[in-house]
Amino acid sequence: MSKVRIYTLARDLGVDNNKMLEILDGLGVSYKSVSSTIEEDTVELIKQILEEEAAAGTAAPADSAPVQASAPQAAPTQPETQAASAPQPQAAATATAEREPVAASAPAAPSAPELPHRAPVVTIMGHVDHGKTSLLDYIRKTKVAAKEAGGITQHVGAFEARTSKGKVVFIDTPGHEAFTTIRARGANVADIAIIVIAADDSLMPQTREAIAHAQAAKVPMIVAINKIDLPQADPERVKTDLTQLNLVPEEYGGDLIVVPVSARTGEGVEDLLEYISLTAELEDLRADPKGEFSGVIIESRVDRQAGVLATVMVQEGTLRVGDFLVVGENYGKIKAMTDSNGGRIKEAGPSTPVQVLGFSEAPASGEKVFSAKNEHAARELIAQRVSDRRDAEAARTQRRRTLEEMMGP
Ligand code: GDP
Ligand code: MG
Repeated sequence: MSKVRIYTLARDLGVDNNKMLEILDGLGVSYKSVSSTIEEDTVELIKQILEEEAAAGTAAPADSAPVQASAPQAAPTQPETQAASAPQPQAAATATAEREPVAASAPAAPSAPELPHRAPVVTIMGHVDHGKTSLLDYIRKTKVAAKEAGGITQHVGAFEARTSKGKVVFIDTPGHEAFTTIRARGANVADIAIIVIAADDSLMPQTREAIAHAQAAKVPMIVAINKIDLPQADPERVKTDLTQLNLVPEEYGGDLIVVPVSARTGEGVEDLLEYISLTAELEDLRADPKGEFSGVIIESRVDRQAGVLATVMVQEGTLRVGDFLVVGENYGKIKAMTDSNGGRIKEAGPSTPVQVLGFSEAPASGEKVFSAKNEHAARELIAQRVSDRRDAEAARTQRRRTLEEMMGP
């Protein structure tokens, strides 16, 4: 009898992967990941269960929709079966916990109600010349809608790709610098890391470094074996080398997703996007567009005419033209916003990279961004930060003096 992969079945039956895993758990069927295969008998059982649920009116229609960036507001009345076993929206919970007490009024969401899904933010890392830029270029060329008005799209450090499964946001600031500097400042901006490994070169020092970074950040990894169009490509060697790092590809019985691609011919890129969406679905990424705004600076630069242009990744809440933003000890009022495609926009929700005009100084990438109600609140918050910093500096100076006195003349 033929076997079928879990995610294929989920797609064919119009339910999401989590739901499918839930049913399998209920049946006591073991699996490694959504790309594990299941037996025909099990498939029949699953179909029966879904039919029964549908008949009993407990099937969650919201579940059957693919992950969507623009998911509608969470239905207040979720069926109980689902609420009980729904995975915790961890991303949202963490974001709330990490949020600095700007106003400390974020609703604690005691029962973690269903927040809308948000698009995954993906970073591409790997050894130099393994094809990171080429891969991003290919995706940008084929998956980003052409700009309506003429003109050159500015480099903003991130772009949004449209896939059959919804939006995927790529961070394209060179190399993994963005990822590491952002992480060094204590912010996490990526949900998924793509590790690019050239099929003719296999694992190299920066590959290992990239893997270590993704592991330290606890960001799920997908390996893209690139340049498979080359005659000397040896994807099997890459997989064996990965296994030596304890990263076992699925086809070797592990749970590492490995996708062979060619940034030159485009082969496999569609599969890669599909796996990104699958991983995002499993991560159950959610954010509250109505919550308090918070975001991270991706990059910034000073334009001689326009002034400071900063790319902000919206993580929670919604950013609007006219809002006051505080970054470190600076603030700015948003005069204008453009999306990553260069189009003017008035507001931007979670997982949207936007270029913001309105800061007086260029903020550093990785800095966290918060909003303030008005200019007065922004100034107060900054005054508080300045005074905190001075206190900390004074305390350090005092400690040093005391130490010097103790050491004698
Ligand atoms: P990066 O340093 O990781 O950003 O690598 P680049 O994207 O700059 O690619 C390095 C070199 O490899 C360039 O000469 C690319 O044209 C080439 N390259 C990238 N992807 C592929 C691929 O899929 N196949 C082939 N044959 N060459 C590739
Ligand atoms: Mg490059």
